[in-house]
Amino acid sequence: MFSKIKGQDRAIALLRNAVKNDKLANSYLFYGPEGVGKFTTALYFGMMINCHATLEKRPCGFCPSCKKFLNFSHPDLMYIFPTPKLNISIDGEVKSEKVLHEYEAYLENKKNTPWREFFFSQNIEIRIDSIRMLEHRIMLSPNEGLKKVYIIEDADLINREAANAFLKTLEEPPADTIIILTTKKPNVLLPTIISRCQKIPFLPISSEMIIENLLEKTAVNEYDAKLFARIANGNMAKALRLAQDKNLESRDNFLNLLQMIIEHDDLKFISFVDHYRSQKDQKLINEMISLLMIWIGDIVYLQSDPEKIVNVDQKKLLMKFYKKNPQIGDQASMLTEFLEKMKLKLLGHINPQLILIEIYNRLNKFF
Ligand SMILES: [Zn+2]
Repeated sequence: MFSKIKGQDRAIALLRNAVKNDKLANSYLFYGPEGVGKFTTALYFGMMINCHATLEKRPCGFCPSCKKFLNFSHPDLMYIFPTPKLNISIDGEVKSEKVLHEYEAYLENKKNTPWREFFFSQNIEIRIDSIRMLEHRIMLSPNEGLKKVYIIEDADLINREAANAFLKTLEEPPADTIIILTTKKPNVLLPTIISRCQKIPFLPISSEMIIENLLEKTAVNEYDAKLFARIANGNMAKALRLAQDKNLESRDNFLNLLQMIIEHDDLKFISFVDHYRSQKDQKLINEMISLLMIWIGDIVYLQSDPEKIVNVDQKKLLMKFYKKNPQIGDQASMLTEFLEKMKLKLLGHINPQLILIEIYNRLNKFF
Protein backbone atom coordinates (compact mmCIF):
# COMPACT_ATOMS: atom_id res chain seq x y z
CA MET A 1 0.00 0.00 0.00
CA PHE A 2 2.86 2.38 0.79
CA SER A 3 3.85 2.30 -2.87
CA LYS A 4 0.78 4.45 -3.56
CA ILE A 5 2.51 7.32 -1.79
CA LYS A 6 4.97 8.99 -4.16
CA GLY A 7 8.20 10.73 -3.29
CA GLN A 8 8.30 10.00 0.45
CA ASP A 9 10.49 6.89 0.45
CA ARG A 10 12.71 8.19 3.20
CA ALA A 11 9.89 8.94 5.62
CA ILE A 12 8.27 5.59 4.89
CA ALA A 13 11.54 3.68 5.38
CA LEU A 14 12.00 5.36 8.77
CA LEU A 15 8.52 4.32 9.89
CA ARG A 16 8.88 0.81 8.51
CA ASN A 17 12.13 0.32 10.40
CA ALA A 18 10.56 1.58 13.59
CA VAL A 19 7.87 -1.08 13.33
CA LYS A 20 10.31 -3.80 12.31
CA ASN A 21 12.68 -3.07 15.19
CA ASP A 22 9.85 -2.46 17.62
CA LYS A 23 11.13 1.05 18.25
CA LEU A 24 7.97 3.07 17.93
CA ALA A 25 7.84 6.53 19.42
CA ASN A 26 4.70 7.61 21.26
CA SER A 27 4.24 10.69 19.17
CA TYR A 28 5.28 11.80 15.72
CA LEU A 29 5.25 15.09 13.88
CA PHE A 30 4.89 14.75 10.10
CA TYR A 31 5.77 18.12 8.62
CA GLY A 32 6.17 19.39 5.08
CA PRO A 33 4.30 21.25 2.34
CA GLU A 34 0.70 20.72 1.36
CA GLY A 35 -0.45 17.83 -0.78
CA VAL A 36 2.60 15.58 -0.43
CA GLY A 37 1.07 12.62 1.44
CA LYS A 38 1.42 13.41 5.15
CA PHE A 39 -2.09 12.32 6.07
CA THR A 40 -2.10 9.19 3.92
CA THR A 41 1.25 8.16 5.35
CA ALA A 42 -0.11 8.66 8.87
CA LEU A 43 -3.15 6.54 8.07
CA TYR A 44 -1.09 3.76 6.48
CA PHE A 45 1.36 3.87 9.37
CA GLY A 46 -1.50 3.27 11.80
CA MET A 47 -2.75 0.50 9.51
CA MET A 48 0.68 -1.10 9.36
CA ILE A 49 0.91 -1.24 13.14
CA ASN A 50 -2.48 -2.96 13.45
CA CYS A 51 -2.53 -5.03 10.22
CA HIS A 52 -3.00 -8.81 10.45
CA ALA A 53 -0.65 -9.66 7.55
CA THR A 54 3.01 -10.62 7.78
CA LEU A 55 5.38 -7.71 8.36
CA GLU A 56 6.61 -7.31 4.77
CA LYS A 57 3.07 -7.14 3.45
CA ARG A 58 1.85 -4.55 5.88
CA PRO A 59 -0.36 -2.65 5.51
CA CYS A 60 -2.13 -5.16 3.31
CA GLY A 61 -5.27 -3.12 2.72
CA PHE A 62 -7.45 -6.24 2.79
CA CYS A 63 -7.59 -7.59 6.33
CA PRO A 64 -10.52 -6.53 8.55
CA SER A 65 -8.31 -4.11 10.45
CA CYS A 66 -6.99 -2.39 7.29
CA LYS A 67 -10.47 -2.14 5.81
CA LYS A 68 -11.76 -0.42 8.90
CA PHE A 69 -8.84 1.98 8.85
CA LEU A 70 -9.53 2.84 5.22
CA ASN A 71 -13.14 3.44 6.13
CA PHE A 72 -12.19 5.53 9.18
CA SER A 73 -14.35 3.17 11.25
CA HIS A 74 -11.70 1.29 13.24
CA PRO A 75 -12.51 1.70 16.94
CA ASP A 76 -8.83 2.31 17.69
CA LEU A 77 -8.41 5.07 15.13
CA MET A 78 -9.20 8.59 16.10
CA TYR A 79 -8.95 11.33 13.51
CA ILE A 80 -9.03 14.93 14.62
CA PHE A 81 -8.92 17.86 12.20
CA PRO A 82 -9.76 21.57 12.25
CA THR A 83 -13.51 22.17 12.12
CA PRO A 84 -16.12 24.76 12.98
CA LYS A 85 -17.49 24.45 16.51
CA LEU A 86 -18.80 20.87 16.75
CA ASN A 87 -19.77 20.62 20.41
CA ILE A 88 -18.50 17.07 20.21
CA SER A 89 -19.09 14.86 23.25
CA ILE A 90 -16.31 12.78 24.81
CA ASP A 91 -17.85 9.79 23.03
CA GLY A 92 -17.48 11.47 19.66
CA GLU A 93 -21.05 12.55 19.08
CA VAL A 94 -21.30 15.81 17.15
CA LYS A 95 -24.02 17.80 18.87
CA SER A 96 -24.09 20.80 16.60
CA GLU A 97 -26.56 19.71 13.95
CA LYS A 98 -25.78 22.67 11.79
CA VAL A 99 -22.22 21.47 11.35
CA LEU A 100 -22.89 17.73 11.42
CA HIS A 101 -23.64 17.34 7.72
CA GLU A 102 -20.55 19.35 6.79
CA TYR A 103 -18.49 17.23 9.17
CA GLU A 104 -19.73 14.04 7.52
CA ALA A 105 -19.19 15.47 4.04
CA TYR A 106 -15.62 16.30 5.00
CA LEU A 107 -14.98 12.69 6.05
CA GLU A 108 -16.55 11.30 2.87
CA ASN A 109 -14.37 13.56 0.77
CA LYS A 110 -11.27 12.56 2.72
CA LYS A 111 -12.06 8.88 2.19
CA ASN A 112 -12.91 8.99 -1.49
CA THR A 113 -11.28 12.02 -3.10
CA PRO A 114 -8.67 13.27 -0.66
CA TRP A 115 -6.97 15.49 -3.26
CA ARG A 116 -10.09 17.63 -3.45
CA GLU A 117 -10.23 20.67 -1.20
CA PHE A 118 -13.06 20.91 1.28
CA PHE A 119 -14.21 24.22 2.67
CA PHE A 120 -16.28 24.52 5.81
CA SER A 121 -18.73 27.39 5.91
CA GLN A 122 -17.28 28.77 9.14
CA ASN A 123 -13.87 29.36 10.72
CA ILE A 124 -11.99 26.20 11.54
CA GLU A 125 -9.80 25.29 14.52
CA ILE A 126 -8.90 22.29 16.62
CA ARG A 127 -10.86 22.95 19.76
CA ILE A 128 -10.91 21.90 23.37
CA ASP A 129 -13.87 19.51 23.02
CA SER A 130 -11.94 17.43 20.43
CA ILE A 131 -8.97 17.25 22.79
CA ARG A 132 -11.25 16.25 25.71
CA MET A 133 -12.60 13.42 23.56
CA LEU A 134 -9.02 12.35 22.85
CA GLU A 135 -8.11 12.49 26.56
CA HIS A 136 -11.09 10.33 27.38
CA ARG A 137 -10.37 7.73 24.72
CA ILE A 138 -6.67 7.55 25.43
CA MET A 139 -7.29 6.24 28.93
CA LEU A 140 -9.19 3.19 27.61
CA SER A 141 -7.31 0.16 26.32
CA PRO A 142 -7.38 -0.68 22.60
CA ASN A 143 -10.59 -2.33 21.46
CA GLU A 144 -9.32 -4.75 18.88
CA GLY A 145 -6.03 -3.35 17.60
CA LEU A 146 -2.55 -3.58 19.04
CA LYS A 147 -2.27 0.14 19.42
CA LYS A 148 -4.61 3.08 19.38
CA VAL A 149 -3.78 5.53 16.63
CA TYR A 150 -4.55 9.23 16.91
CA ILE A 151 -4.08 11.40 13.86
CA ILE A 152 -4.27 15.14 14.41
CA GLU A 153 -4.23 16.84 11.05
CA ASP A 154 -3.11 20.45 10.52
CA ALA A 155 -2.06 20.57 14.15
CA ASP A 156 -0.91 24.18 13.71
CA LEU A 157 -4.60 25.13 13.77
CA ILE A 158 -5.03 24.01 17.38
CA ASN A 159 -6.18 26.93 19.51
CA ARG A 160 -4.37 28.02 22.64
CA GLU A 161 -6.79 26.44 25.11
CA ALA A 162 -6.78 23.11 23.28
CA ALA A 163 -2.99 23.17 22.89
CA ASN A 164 -2.46 23.56 26.61
CA ALA A 165 -4.79 20.67 27.37
CA PHE A 166 -3.18 18.56 24.68
CA LEU A 167 0.31 19.15 26.11
CA LYS A 168 -0.64 17.21 29.23
CA THR A 169 -1.66 14.21 27.13
CA LEU A 170 1.50 14.47 25.11
CA GLU A 171 3.63 14.42 28.27
CA GLU A 172 2.65 10.90 29.24
CA PRO A 173 0.71 9.06 26.61
CA PRO A 174 -0.07 5.41 27.50
CA ALA A 175 2.31 2.88 25.90
CA ASP A 176 -0.42 1.42 23.69
CA THR A 177 -0.86 4.73 21.91
CA ILE A 178 0.60 6.39 18.83
CA ILE A 179 -0.14 10.06 18.26
CA ILE A 180 0.65 11.50 14.84
CA LEU A 181 0.49 15.23 14.23
CA THR A 182 0.66 16.58 10.70
CA THR A 183 1.40 20.17 9.76
CA LYS A 184 2.61 22.35 6.94
CA LYS A 185 3.60 25.07 9.41
CA PRO A 186 5.70 23.46 12.15
CA ASN A 187 7.04 26.87 13.24
CA VAL A 188 3.55 27.84 14.44
CA LEU A 189 3.36 24.93 16.91
CA LEU A 190 4.33 25.38 20.54
CA PRO A 191 7.99 24.38 20.98
CA THR A 192 6.91 22.20 23.89
CA ILE A 193 4.71 20.20 21.53
CA ILE A 194 7.40 19.88 18.88
CA SER A 195 10.04 18.73 21.36
CA ARG A 196 7.88 15.82 22.50
CA CYS A 197 7.45 14.37 19.01
CA GLN A 198 9.74 12.44 16.74
CA LYS A 199 9.98 14.65 13.67
CA ILE A 200 9.55 13.18 10.21
CA PRO A 201 10.10 15.54 7.27
CA PHE A 202 8.06 15.29 4.06
CA LEU A 203 9.44 16.77 0.86
CA PRO A 204 7.85 18.47 -2.14
CA ILE A 205 7.33 15.95 -4.92
CA SER A 206 9.48 16.22 -8.04
CA SER A 207 7.88 17.31 -11.31
CA GLU A 208 8.96 14.08 -12.98
CA MET A 209 7.17 12.03 -10.35
CA ILE A 210 4.03 14.13 -10.56
CA ILE A 211 3.95 13.83 -14.36
CA GLU A 212 4.43 10.06 -14.13
CA ASN A 213 1.67 9.73 -11.57
CA LEU A 214 -0.77 11.87 -13.56
CA LEU A 215 -0.14 9.89 -16.73
CA GLU A 216 -0.63 6.66 -14.84
CA LYS A 217 -3.73 7.58 -12.86
CA THR A 218 -5.64 10.13 -14.90
CA ALA A 219 -6.70 10.59 -18.49
CA VAL A 220 -4.57 13.67 -19.17
CA ASN A 221 -2.18 13.84 -22.11
CA GLU A 222 1.50 14.50 -21.77
CA TYR A 223 1.21 18.21 -22.44
CA ASP A 224 -1.40 18.70 -19.70
CA ALA A 225 0.53 16.50 -17.29
CA LYS A 226 3.59 18.71 -17.76
CA LEU A 227 1.58 21.89 -17.37
CA PHE A 228 -0.27 20.71 -14.25
CA ALA A 229 2.95 19.49 -12.65
CA ARG A 230 4.50 22.90 -13.25
CA ILE A 231 1.54 24.75 -11.74
CA ALA A 232 1.29 22.34 -8.81
CA ASN A 233 4.91 23.02 -7.86
CA GLY A 234 5.53 19.88 -5.79
CA ASN A 235 1.96 19.51 -4.54
CA MET A 236 0.63 16.16 -5.77
CA ALA A 237 -2.90 16.80 -4.50
CA LYS A 238 -3.10 20.02 -6.46
CA ALA A 239 -1.82 18.33 -9.62
CA LEU A 240 -4.45 15.59 -9.28
CA ARG A 241 -7.11 18.20 -8.68
CA LEU A 242 -6.17 20.04 -11.86
CA ALA A 243 -6.06 16.80 -13.83
CA GLN A 244 -9.38 15.54 -12.49
CA ASP A 245 -11.19 18.79 -13.02
CA LYS A 246 -9.31 19.80 -16.11
CA ASN A 247 -11.05 23.07 -15.60
CA LEU A 248 -8.34 25.20 -16.94
CA GLU A 249 -10.88 27.59 -18.38
CA SER A 250 -8.31 30.08 -17.25
CA ARG A 251 -5.97 28.81 -19.97
CA ASP A 252 -8.29 30.04 -22.71
CA ASN A 253 -8.64 33.34 -20.95
CA PHE A 254 -4.92 33.37 -20.49
CA LEU A 255 -4.22 32.87 -24.19
CA ASN A 256 -6.63 35.71 -24.92
CA LEU A 257 -4.77 37.91 -22.51
CA LEU A 258 -1.48 37.09 -24.25
CA GLN A 259 -2.97 38.19 -27.56
CA MET A 260 -4.04 41.49 -26.04
CA ILE A 261 -0.59 42.04 -24.60
CA ILE A 262 1.26 41.34 -27.81
CA GLU A 263 -1.16 43.48 -29.83
CA HIS A 264 -1.42 46.22 -27.17
CA ASP A 265 -5.16 45.96 -27.59
CA ASP A 266 -6.29 48.20 -24.73
CA LEU A 267 -9.94 48.24 -25.73
CA LYS A 268 -10.22 44.49 -25.69
CA PHE A 269 -8.39 44.42 -22.39
CA ILE A 270 -10.85 46.84 -20.82
CA SER A 271 -13.77 44.51 -21.54
CA PHE A 272 -11.65 41.51 -20.51
CA VAL A 273 -10.80 42.97 -17.13
CA ASP A 274 -14.46 43.79 -16.59
CA HIS A 275 -15.16 40.07 -16.03
CA TYR A 276 -12.99 39.93 -12.96
CA ARG A 277 -14.88 42.07 -10.55
CA SER A 278 -15.42 39.94 -7.52
CA GLN A 279 -13.12 38.68 -4.82
CA LYS A 280 -14.09 35.18 -6.02
CA ASP A 281 -12.07 35.73 -9.19
CA GLN A 282 -8.92 35.74 -7.08
CA LYS A 283 -8.36 32.08 -7.74
CA LEU A 284 -8.70 32.45 -11.50
CA ILE A 285 -6.31 35.37 -11.57
CA ASN A 286 -3.88 33.53 -9.35
CA GLU A 287 -3.88 30.66 -11.80
CA MET A 288 -3.42 33.06 -14.67
CA ILE A 289 -0.36 34.55 -12.97
CA SER A 290 1.06 31.03 -12.56
CA LEU A 291 0.53 30.46 -16.27
CA LEU A 292 2.23 33.77 -17.06
CA MET A 293 5.27 32.74 -15.05
CA ILE A 294 5.47 29.50 -17.00
CA TRP A 295 5.02 31.49 -20.20
CA ILE A 296 7.96 33.78 -19.39
CA GLY A 297 10.08 30.68 -18.72
CA ASP A 298 8.99 29.19 -22.02
CA ILE A 299 10.05 32.28 -23.98
CA VAL A 300 13.51 31.90 -22.49
CA TYR A 301 13.60 28.14 -23.14
CA LEU A 302 12.71 28.80 -26.77
CA GLN A 303 16.36 29.72 -27.32
CA SER A 304 18.18 27.89 -24.56
CA ASP A 305 16.38 24.61 -23.95
CA PRO A 306 13.33 23.95 -26.19
CA GLU A 307 12.84 20.51 -24.61
CA LYS A 308 11.64 22.20 -21.44
CA ILE A 309 8.88 24.25 -23.06
CA VAL A 310 5.49 23.57 -21.48
CA ASN A 311 3.30 25.46 -23.94
CA VAL A 312 4.41 23.32 -26.86
CA ASP A 313 1.17 23.99 -28.74
CA GLN A 314 1.87 27.76 -28.73
CA LYS A 315 5.34 27.98 -30.23
CA LYS A 316 4.27 30.57 -32.81
CA LEU A 317 2.98 32.90 -30.15
CA LEU A 318 6.04 32.28 -28.01
CA MET A 319 8.18 33.28 -30.98
CA LYS A 320 6.20 36.52 -31.39
CA PHE A 321 6.94 37.38 -27.77
CA TYR A 322 10.60 36.54 -28.18
CA LYS A 323 10.94 38.66 -31.30
CA LYS A 324 9.45 41.66 -29.52
CA ASN A 325 12.00 41.37 -26.76
CA PRO A 326 15.06 39.24 -27.49
CA GLN A 327 16.61 40.48 -24.20
CA ILE A 328 13.98 38.63 -22.22
CA GLY A 329 16.53 36.10 -20.97
CA ASP A 330 18.19 38.81 -18.86
CA GLN A 331 14.91 40.22 -17.58
CA ALA A 332 13.01 37.02 -16.88
CA SER A 333 13.92 36.73 -13.20
CA MET A 334 12.94 40.35 -12.56
CA LEU A 335 9.62 39.78 -14.29
CA THR A 336 8.98 36.58 -12.36
CA GLU A 337 9.71 38.40 -9.13
CA PHE A 338 7.17 41.05 -10.10
CA LEU A 339 4.57 38.36 -10.77
CA GLU A 340 5.31 36.72 -7.40
CA LYS A 341 4.68 40.09 -5.80
CA MET A 342 1.34 40.36 -7.62
CA LYS A 343 0.36 36.97 -6.22
CA LEU A 344 1.03 38.18 -2.71
CA LYS A 345 -0.94 41.35 -3.34
CA LEU A 346 -3.81 39.22 -4.56
CA LEU A 347 -3.95 37.57 -1.13
CA GLY A 348 -4.54 40.95 0.49
CA HIS A 349 -7.86 42.69 0.11
CA ILE A 350 -6.98 44.42 -3.09
CA ASN A 351 -9.43 44.62 -5.96
CA PRO A 352 -8.30 41.83 -8.30
CA GLN A 353 -9.00 44.05 -11.32
CA LEU A 354 -6.31 46.48 -10.21
CA ILE A 355 -3.82 43.66 -10.11
CA LEU A 356 -4.71 42.51 -13.61
CA ILE A 357 -4.29 46.06 -14.87
CA GLU A 358 -0.91 46.40 -13.16
CA ILE A 359 0.24 43.16 -14.79
CA TYR A 360 -1.05 44.19 -18.21
CA ASN A 361 0.71 47.54 -18.03
CA ARG A 362 3.97 46.05 -16.89
CA LEU A 363 3.99 43.35 -19.56
CA ASN A 364 3.17 45.92 -22.21
CA LYS A 365 6.44 47.61 -21.39
CA PHE A 366 8.33 44.39 -22.04
CA PHE A 367 6.58 43.18 -25.17
ZN1 LIG B 1 -4.02 -5.48 6.78
